[in-house]
Amino acid sequence: MKEKIEKLRQDAAEAIKEKVANLTDLNDIRVKYLGKKGELTAILRGMSQLGAEDRPKIGKIVNEARAQLEALITEKNEQLKARELADKLSSERIDVTLPGRQFRVGHLHPLTLTMGRIKNIFLNMGFSIEEGPEIETDYFNFEALNLPKDHPARDMQDSFYITEEILMRTQTSPVQARTMQSREPNSPIRMIAPGRVYRRDDYDATHSPMFTQVEGLVIDKGISFADLKGTLEVALRQIFDEKVGVRFRPSFFPFTEPSTEVDISCVMCHGAGCRVCKGTGWLEILGAGMVHPHVLEMSGYDPAKVSGFAFGLGVERIAMLSYGIDDLRLFYDNDVRFLRQF
Ligand SMILES: [Zn+2]
Repeated sequence: MKEKIEKLRQDAAEAIKEKVANLTDLNDIRVKYLGKKGELTAILRGMSQLGAEDRPKIGKIVNEARAQLEALITEKNEQLKARELADKLSSERIDVTLPGRQFRVGHLHPLTLTMGRIKNIFLNMGFSIEEGPEIETDYFNFEALNLPKDHPARDMQDSFYITEEILMRTQTSPVQARTMQSREPNSPIRMIAPGRVYRRDDYDATHSPMFTQVEGLVIDKGISFADLKGTLEVALRQIFDEKVGVRFRPSFFPFTEPSTEVDISCVMCHGAGCRVCKGTGWLEILGAGMVHPHVLEMSGYDPAKVSGFAFGLGVERIAMLSYGIDDLRLFYDNDVRFLRQF
């Protein structure tokens, strides 16, 4: 009997030490030897058949074996748990030194950026920002600007007509008449009107059927050509740089008299002459002039009491010169490789 118990104890101890790979194996062994139907338990149950003097001896041996095996199982159990935890920690380890995931942040389109700069410059000079519809009437787009139906200058601004009387606006100038007509007659105005305009034009490196303009209008008592020159010089020097040269050349527009083209010294060669300025050292940048008395009258203003000046500039042209872009189409193609550079 003693030998049998000793053999069991040794087998179980060996199994616990050598054969157990995980907690499930360990539990199987515990059940096999110490469970209700386990081998050691069976010996305890069979003790009633032993003689009275053998019983305490055998009982003692069995209990000792049992205590030893339980200790071994507890020890093994702790080892296994510690190992499982270590495995889990190493397999689920997070490398906090890895760089974080990058989220690409979008940004404003170069035309929007340029428009924003222009708006800020005029807002700082006390101008308001006015808006008008892109689908415009013939009256506001042409007639109220001194361009009656048969005027030859209309040919330069052929647009997309929706009906005989409604078209996609060819310029932001109609916002001038709309603003004047919404105000008390002869009340002062200092406004810019930024927005998209449309013309029947080719789509090439310098033309697009849709582009962006900023219109400006100042009306008050005693506004003179000196105000026009001063305002535009200040604005252009803020848009480009403090040292940029500004010159005024006589020109013709139906809605201003006198009219002027405004040039800046070439931003690429600073006046020396290059491909961009076609060797002249100057770049045409905007058109302007004193508001034609007839235009004032048509919108209810009295040219004997007030005077004013107006100007219009192309945002694409300013953006191209500011950023050194040589193809207008890049603004509309939405190629992110281009747009990311701003
Ligand atoms: Zn140049």
